[in-house]
Amino acid sequence: MSQRSEFAGTVGIIGAGAMGRGIAQLLAEAGLTTLLVDAVPGVADSAREFCCKMISRKVEKGSLSPDAASTATARIHAIPTGSSIDYQALSNCRVVIEAATENLEIKHSVLAGLEMAVSDDCIIATNTSSLSVTAFAAKARRAERIAGLHFFNPVTLMPLVELIAGAHTAEWVIEELFALVRRTAHTPVRVADTPGFLVNHAGRAFGTEAARVVQEGICGFDDVDRVMVEAAGFRMGPFELFDLTGLDVTHRVTESIYQQFYDEPRLRPTVLTAQRFTAGLFGRKSGQGFYAYQDGKLLKPIEAMPESGRTTRHRVWVSPKFADAALMVRDLMGKLDITLETDGRPSDEALIVVTPFGQDATTTALAEGLDPKRTVAIDCLFDLSRRRTVMHTPATARYFRDMARNIFSGDRVPVTVIDDSPGFIAQRIVACVVNVSAEIAQQRIAEPSDIDRATKLALGYPLGTLEFADVLGARRILNILEAMHQFYGDPRYRPSPWLKRRALLGMPIGAIT
Ligand code: NAD
Repeated sequence: MSQRSEFAGTVGIIGAGAMGRGIAQLLAEAGLTTLLVDAVPGVADSAREFCCKMISRKVEKGSLSPDAASTATARIHAIPTGSSIDYQALSNCRVVIEAATENLEIKHSVLAGLEMAVSDDCIIATNTSSLSVTAFAAKARRAERIAGLHFFNPVTLMPLVELIAGAHTAEWVIEELFALVRRTAHTPVRVADTPGFLVNHAGRAFGTEAARVVQEGICGFDDVDRVMVEAAGFRMGPFELFDLTGLDVTHRVTESIYQQFYDEPRLRPTVLTAQRFTAGLFGRKSGQGFYAYQDGKLLKPIEAMPESGRTTRHRVWVSPKFADAALMVRDLMGKLDITLETDGRPSDEALIVVTPFGQDATTTALAEGLDPKRTVAIDCLFDLSRRRTVMHTPATARYFRDMARNIFSGDRVPVTVIDDSPGFIAQRIVACVVNVSAEIAQQRIAEPSDIDRATKLALGYPLGTLEFADVLGARRILNILEAMHQFYGDPRYRPSPWLKRRALLGMPIGAIT
């Protein structure tokens, strides 16, 4: 079967829980007959009713015609379960999707029952999110017809599907599953059978690096969220995301992926999330996470804003080391009516502003021969129009810290002041996000274009994880990682060879468009 031919045939779904019922609805709406099976009597029936309700809601909203709804509904069949599962009812299926409870023993028992009933060329796809497809197929009579077909929750709204070939999977199986997904208008991406597949692997850096920033005492969790949303453009901050997904899920997944990659430091979880997980501070579902919740509503901490003092008499000297960043700061000073010093060295009264990439304020001041008592740093990786991040050295005098805060919030754009940190907040989180995905590309887990497509669709990032490097400057991202690696001596920050070579050669990190 070629990749372009249309999939036809009946699809069986084993496990009619959250995922099974979503997959049934999606496939039925795409014109495919689906048979729903569950180990618990009555569950397949209630799943079918649930799908019918969802489909009729679409009619009420006007997104589906009544005719299309009734034909879709008629395509979903619940197979009754008596004292045992009726695998024989699936004997004519072209594809059977296993969406039973996430437990390898359970999945192997499903596989054994299924292989007794279906034809030799029936494709068996597992929707597992954390088990190895190869481990699932290891107990199969015919491992070549087994693959992973990883839908995301909620299935009808999450348009990405990961297609995973195990060690024995035949190419025709992958091609036919591609055709199956294409019928639904969801987007299939091919991924190698590795821990976390693509999306759950690529999504590790955002939260773990954010947690590291807070664990290190650089700033509060709410500061990180504000910066990542307002300055870096993410839809949701990492701590709000922790709370939404639940630390009971996220921390476990992070630990599991880290361990499965034999303690790869780039994926290392933090003590911060481990402790909160142990304490049951899961997030929204437990009523308390990083944020507090009232009647299910997140209570946003109020941010203290500085009083707007008179700032025009201050004198500011901006380090020229990074010409583009210096220009951004000088432009801003011009708009704020601040007196800029233009000599090669700052006068004795000037506030000294540096614009490092990857270095902390202390290292930067010392390297540039500047007075650390008067030095502050501002993050210029993203534009300065929505929120600014300013950090100081431990030696920066209170007078100059306050002056910097007053100056940078002179136009009422909020300023986040943090302790000294190599890479501020946004630089280090974004650099880690890029680095993890660069390593995914390096290990040929997925194509660069699929990495970007998948991370935008499934993680909702404003740019694909590799695209960030191409938009912000691959060399700059590399410099941030190298500076962090040098400062901390932690292999977590060692740049992926994929990023390093391409950045040095001036080549794109993501797909060549
Ligand atoms: P769920 O608990 O909602 O549903 C699992 C269903 O499987 C239950 O109805 C249960 O009765 C049934 N079941 C258990 N043992 C069975 C057996 N031997 N035979 C037939 N049915 C059996 O779980 P879910 O969230 O729908 O997850 C199902 C699968 O999808 C898991 O592998 C999970 O990792 C994966 N997944 C889940 C999500 C998610 O966010 N929920 C996302 C992607 C993938």
